[in-house]
Amino acid sequence: MARTDLDALALDALTLEQKAALLSGRDFWTTKPLEQAGIPSIALCDGPHGVRREAGGSDHLGINDSMPATCFPPAVAVGSSWDPEVAARIGAAVGREGRALGVAVVLGPGVNIKRSPLCGRNFEYYSEDPLLSGVLGAAHVAALQAEGPGASVKHFAANNQETERMRVSADVDERTLREIYFPAFERVVTEARPATVMCSYNRVNGVYASQNRWLLTDVLRREWGFTGVVVSDWGAVQDRVAALAAGLDLEMPGTGGAGDRRVVEAVRAGELDEAVVDASVRRVAALTARHSGVSGAFDADAHHALARELAAECAVLLKNEGGALPLTAGARIAVIGEFAVRPRFQGGGSSHINATRVDAALDAIRVHAPDAVYAQGFSLDGTGDDRELREAAAETAAAADVAVVFAGLSEREESEGFDRETIDLPAVQVELIRAVAAAARRTVVVLSNGGVVSLEGWHDDVDAVLEGWLLGQAGGSAVADLLFGVVNPSGRLAESIPFRLQDTPSYLNFPGEAGHVRYGEGVMVGYRYHETAERPVRYPFGHGLSYTTFATSGLTVVRTGDYTATVTVTVTNTGKRAGKHVVQVYVATTAGPVRRPARELRAFAKVALAPGESRAVTLPLGRRAFAYYDVPLGRWVVAPGDYTIQIGENASSVVAETTIGLDGDPAVPVVSLDSTLGEWLSHPHAGPALLKVLTTGRSERPAEHDADGLRMASSMPMGRFLTFAGIDLPRETLRELVRLGGPAA
Ligand code: BGC
Repeated sequence: MARTDLDALALDALTLEQKAALLSGRDFWTTKPLEQAGIPSIALCDGPHGVRREAGGSDHLGINDSMPATCFPPAVAVGSSWDPEVAARIGAAVGREGRALGVAVVLGPGVNIKRSPLCGRNFEYYSEDPLLSGVLGAAHVAALQAEGPGASVKHFAANNQETERMRVSADVDERTLREIYFPAFERVVTEARPATVMCSYNRVNGVYASQNRWLLTDVLRREWGFTGVVVSDWGAVQDRVAALAAGLDLEMPGTGGAGDRRVVEAVRAGELDEAVVDASVRRVAALTARHSGVSGAFDADAHHALARELAAECAVLLKNEGGALPLTAGARIAVIGEFAVRPRFQGGGSSHINATRVDAALDAIRVHAPDAVYAQGFSLDGTGDDRELREAAAETAAAADVAVVFAGLSEREESEGFDRETIDLPAVQVELIRAVAAAARRTVVVLSNGGVVSLEGWHDDVDAVLEGWLLGQAGGSAVADLLFGVVNPSGRLAESIPFRLQDTPSYLNFPGEAGHVRYGEGVMVGYRYHETAERPVRYPFGHGLSYTTFATSGLTVVRTGDYTATVTVTVTNTGKRAGKHVVQVYVATTAGPVRRPARELRAFAKVALAPGESRAVTLPLGRRAFAYYDVPLGRWVVAPGDYTIQIGENASSVVAETTIGLDGDPAVPVVSLDSTLGEWLSHPHAGPALLKVLTTGRSERPAEHDADGLRMASSMPMGRFLTFAGIDLPRETLRELVRLGGPAA
């Protein structure tokens, strides 16, 4: 029987070798059992939007077939749902399938931020925004774990590209880590308590994530209170002993005992405290006790239906001119593009699911419009004659009332393991869309792509665009449901769609060089940059249309504390169809000593409304909604000043706003001899004392005059200023000044 607490069982009874062995995999997917201690072997398998339980050959790139499982919409789609309920229902279903397939830990979700549209793995991540990513990730984890298996939120941290992913150093300043790249992990860890956290392959500021003590112990465990197991990404451990000492408990996959031997040697040589080994053993034992994985069956039909329902919540209607959509069943419809029969519905790599079945859009469209005709348009494997296929498609389109073109990226163009070099759609597809649009009365484009694609060169030629992302195995049916209005589109962009790659904030610093990628754009990621630099995009973060219309009114903001408020706004469905609207609350401020983005998403909610229905939506804003991370102080600070609460139709279109003033944190900055003279002089306690010391007996002029003179030297660090100016303060005086400038004064 599995035990729950290894403390009860004298760890002393285990040899060092036995303990070390528990800290690495038995093979690719499982841990080692230790019968004597009642510790079972457990399986940890991918994840995240389905279960990849390999029964034969093992690999971490989705090469070998796995047991059939439902492929739910990947995170790129879930991000666009803006609905934690969608994430939770997927998490729960994946949890049920994991349990049925004997999986103890389902690896995922990935909550890395989309820093560049080129990242080959963006399809596995939710958003460019940390709040949206965190809320969805936490909902997925909580629901998954409620079904039995544990989750593994990944890849911690700053894993935002595939190029050189196993050794590149992500060079990121701390404020940016804290405000952009950490919060989704922090939220998942503190709110959903995942069983495990998976460290990333890359280095963070020069130190491998797998052996980064600051990351894995100081931030994750001490600050966020994580008590679960830190597992390595598959093969991420560079130095097993350094990793263990830094806080990495479980090395996966197994290394045939090599890592275990090094741990034993290090303890024997006095280089590693055995207590570190014991702490990790306790955590791994607790994991195996809590999530040991059972087996059974899952309802594949019900899960397929669920995958269809949820996929329809995710697609984003980007454009719909002249009411081109929804389609009417009586219309003559030309379906064009090979994706309509050979759907692209998931990404390549470790998350590749062996789907229980796959719905093709053409079949689903013919349920509504049996006479819909089909033309291939282009060949996915490149074997057809593109010109012939294009001309045939244009002819088919000309004879129809509406042409629906299925375009997108194939797995060849984007996958785990490499980044893209362009955001363009393949040229052959751009030419096809243009040819069809020129021939057809109306043209609708349905996109299937894991990473953002440019709409330039054809966007203005077509009437409607439905961005389907990757919608999972039932995506084909979901798209038909949306095209025919069985379901009203309600997705909103979770990432900006730029006009050009050159307009994106990481353009000059992606994917880095000489082993380093410098996050030079800092916190200005995604819409934060586009809105601050006023660099227009084709479609902003948060954009998405519906077949109905909504109005927002009656914004009220009530302060509920020194740093908290609630926002209430009324949303009305002013159209003729039931639909869902996403209330997006942004906060804009210039308060504080750091450059703030023009606005930042701080709360959101998706509401379903019948035609004519109104609802007041109330959302809380906590302290973090107003705070920035102050690096010198080492904490979150609310600066005194004005904060404008904005209701955005999307990140660049504000429909209502109101400003509140906050007193902010009592401003007690800390100064040291490294602080500048200017910082010293503006310090409430140390400043006046310093001025007094510097001016006493030096001149007959009033102190302000001296203060003016000192301003010229205000950027000099205090230590250097004193030497430079030949000011030799008595040791006692200096000590007193430093005390006055310290945190406790
Ligand atoms: C990926 C992880 C995955 C692991 C196991 C790695 O290559 O980065 O996301 O969970 O393989 O397949």
